[in-house]
Amino acid sequence: MTAQIIDGKAIAAAIRQQLKQKVAARIEQGLRAPGLAVILVGSNPASQVYVRSKRKACEEIGFISSSFDLPIDTSEAELLALIDECNHDDSIDGILVQLPLPSHIEDAKVIEKIRPDKDVDGFHPYNIGRLAQKTPVLRPCTPKGVITLLNSTGVDLHGLDALVVGASNIVGRPMGLELLLAGCTTTVCHRFTQNLETKVRNADLVVAAVGRPGFIKGEWIKPGAIVIDVGINRLDDGSLVGDVEFDLAAEHASHITPVPGGVGPMTIASLLENTLYAAEQYHDKLPHA
Ligand code: NAP
Repeated sequence: MTAQIIDGKAIAAAIRQQLKQKVAARIEQGLRAPGLAVILVGSNPASQVYVRSKRKACEEIGFISSSFDLPIDTSEAELLALIDECNHDDSIDGILVQLPLPSHIEDAKVIEKIRPDKDVDGFHPYNIGRLAQKTPVLRPCTPKGVITLLNSTGVDLHGLDALVVGASNIVGRPMGLELLLAGCTTTVCHRFTQNLETKVRNADLVVAAVGRPGFIKGEWIKPGAIVIDVGINRLDDGSLVGDVEFDLAAEHASHITPVPGGVGPMTIASLLENTLYAAEQYHDKLPHA
């Protein structure tokens, strides 16, 4: 069997095009363009690349992107004060603080400082709690993007045995919640998981989010399974690969995402969708909007 490639790049481009039209329609109606504040602390090269792509994507579809590039020695108090300013700025619908933060700043404090209605990354305990209780509002971007990709296949997810490999706060855990909500019987694996190979061999749907090249062997994939590779790993030759042995996995799977061009573009598309959602659902209704 040769898997169908799930083209995240094309699906994300279509979403951005739809969003661009919605922004133009808002402006025609006299509503303001959605605003996203993107905050970067320090100069981690990977974070700089991600932040640049997010800002560029905003501008291309007509959002207003406010950039805050802070030095590495910014104190936690200074960062919290900036978030507070953005919380009170009515032109800003979403606040994104690029992770990881320098070690002297506590991630949880920063995430909880962002007003839940502006938490377009979907990491605030309020938004995670809403997802856990089956009433999601602003949903974590990468898992949300994965669900959009899965829906694009037309496969009915109800009752599938889904395996998420990785249990981080930003990908694995909320991915487990999303798949549960989608009707899958969901298992989430982490570093203490035993018999991973057997679990992968039995799964109808595998989402890999570990951050290790080739960690999921292609021959483990059950015939006809769906494979979503969230991993992004840069090899010594500069190329990017995922967590799954792509070529061999594609011989077994029914559908598979490539790296690059799979989940990556969807994370940004979901961020843009969340920002418009925040504007429409929370902020347009304000008397001064
Ligand atoms: P992370 O915070 O390092 O989490 C890695 C997860 O893998 C942890 O939950 C860890 O378990 C688990 N793990 C480690 N060893 C394992 C093992 N032997 N068996 C099973 N699980 C194991 O990474 P992340 O932020 O979730 O990112 C994961 C990957 O996705 C990275 O390559 C990252 O670059 C990529 N990523 C891509 C996107 C995108 O847009 N495509 C977005 C975010 C991240 P413990 O919880 O027990 O430590």
